[in-house]
Amino acid sequence: MNQSVRYSLEVFRPEAHLYRVTLTVPSDGVALRFALPAWIPGSYLIRDFARHVVRIEARAGQRPVKLSKLDKHTWEAPAVRGEITLDYEVYAWDLSVRAAHLDRSHGFFNGTSVFLRVLGREDWPCELDLRAPADPELADWRVATALTGARGAGGARRYGFGRYVAQDYDELIDHPVEMGRFALAHFDAGGATHDVAVTGTVPNLDLPRLCRDLAQVCAAQVRLFEPRSRRAPVDRYVFLVTAVGDGYGGLEHRASTALLCSRRDLPTKTLEAPDEAYRGFLGLASHEYFHTWNVKRIKPAAFVPYPLDRECHTGLLWIFEGFTSYYDDLMLARSGLLSHAQYLQHLGKTVQEVMRAPSRLRQSVAQSSFDAWTKYYRPDENTPNEVVSYYAKGALVAFCLDMRLRAATGGKRSLDDVMRHLWRTLGREFYQGRPRGLAEDAFVDAARAATGVDLKRDVADFAYSTKPLPLAEAFGTAGCVLAATPASLQAELGIKPKSQGSELVIGTAYDGAAAMQAGLSAGDALVAIDGLRIDAKNLGEVLGRYRPGETVRVHAFRRDELREYSVRLGHAAANYTLTPADGGPALTARRQWLGKDAWPNRKA
Ligand code: ZN
Repeated sequence: MNQSVRYSLEVFRPEAHLYRVTLTVPSDGVALRFALPAWIPGSYLIRDFARHVVRIEARAGQRPVKLSKLDKHTWEAPAVRGEITLDYEVYAWDLSVRAAHLDRSHGFFNGTSVFLRVLGREDWPCELDLRAPADPELADWRVATALTGARGAGGARRYGFGRYVAQDYDELIDHPVEMGRFALAHFDAGGATHDVAVTGTVPNLDLPRLCRDLAQVCAAQVRLFEPRSRRAPVDRYVFLVTAVGDGYGGLEHRASTALLCSRRDLPTKTLEAPDEAYRGFLGLASHEYFHTWNVKRIKPAAFVPYPLDRECHTGLLWIFEGFTSYYDDLMLARSGLLSHAQYLQHLGKTVQEVMRAPSRLRQSVAQSSFDAWTKYYRPDENTPNEVVSYYAKGALVAFCLDMRLRAATGGKRSLDDVMRHLWRTLGREFYQGRPRGLAEDAFVDAARAATGVDLKRDVADFAYSTKPLPLAEAFGTAGCVLAATPASLQAELGIKPKSQGSELVIGTAYDGAAAMQAGLSAGDALVAIDGLRIDAKNLGEVLGRYRPGETVRVHAFRRDELREYSVRLGHAAANYTLTPADGGPALTARRQWLGKDAWPNRKA
């Protein structure tokens, strides 16, 4: 009997957002268990995708078989002779990169949302029959995915419905699928065809421009990891882009990425130099593409294999997300899409973000990585006080380590060498039968092997403690000057405000700052300062009339009770600016780090 798991997926009732899926597998006279993942790799939150299974039945041949539900995401079928088929419907109405979506305009799904896995048979080959919609009005739908079309009769042609294959369950669920009427274009980089499929209305979209720019980013990354062969790690790669009115998100996969963006983030034919929105989109695409190496092939040992039924803790997301965040914009600079000045502006924002939040003094990036599931991914009003971002601070850790390596070797070695070493030793053959991950304590050894430099002390200080990062020194090595405007003249309440309708509400009261000292809390609606009405628009102007240290009367509603507080105003946090240092050696350092400045004379 054929040792494979066969799936079919049908656009069943798009108006009700329902996919219909079947799964057929030899039972071989044993009771089989079937489960949907509790989470999707790359997004570290328990999402319990099985809650969207709305009907499920089983049969052996034509005979109905009773399924028992064992827990929130597992079903068991009794032993039968021959094959058993599960037939189920999945509700899909989540327009994010992490789940599944279906209506009459398009369909998108991640395998984690729709394909039950057969427990114990995760390494069996999988086959998917992706069925074209029966509705004649949807007859012009096409398919964008990096899944491989099956050979022979019924095998899917590129961009078509039909049969697809995967080596195992992990491969099946690592290839999201878009179905609909997307705009499509291609480019080559690193010897691989890259498809860009854009779903959603984007008037005057400049798709050739998008391809040109993405090609530069992809080529720069390929050069980083494979300077000799200049070969991409895949034969084919797919950018699945969904443009909406307002949205942001990206999720990495081994040969594709799903990106959600706002339509204004994409280039139109009237755009000249990349504006901030488009630079943000390119940064996101660069981030997810970098993951093709860093986290989809170079992985934490804890992810090999992914335990899909529960949380999977690693203290290393500061490497897998933080380093990726460092390299995403860096690759835009090196590929000429950001000028040095623009790049420094972006990095300066990251410094500002990290320095503003009290959390950097409370939690290390290693701790934040480990607790991602219950802290970073479940933010609340206290998050800025307690949870450090392993993305933002992780990027600065990467930068500081990079500069340590450059300083210690006179510019001969850098973090690039460490990434290449990890790639050669762990990543390159990951899907060729050598799946090994990076052990929790193995980074320092890898860095030493790659560069001869011992980073033990630095890694302990930067990633496993809350000591301040040596930013000034590191920026000096990089040929830049980090300046902090004195935290002096501007008075502030020490809150992160948010507007709620017409109200000005405290989003976060920063720990130890003025508002908290006076007894104000997150959720309080601020009404007046010294008897004058305040709102989100005029808060800065009103506070501008005072000096730090002065005391004001603040009226605020807590729930429906009006209260009065006496607040001694604090100092505004420092503003960080990053500028190129003068002189030849500084310029040389910047060029070694960022490459030649694409637009040396252009203002940021
Ligand atoms: Zn990421």
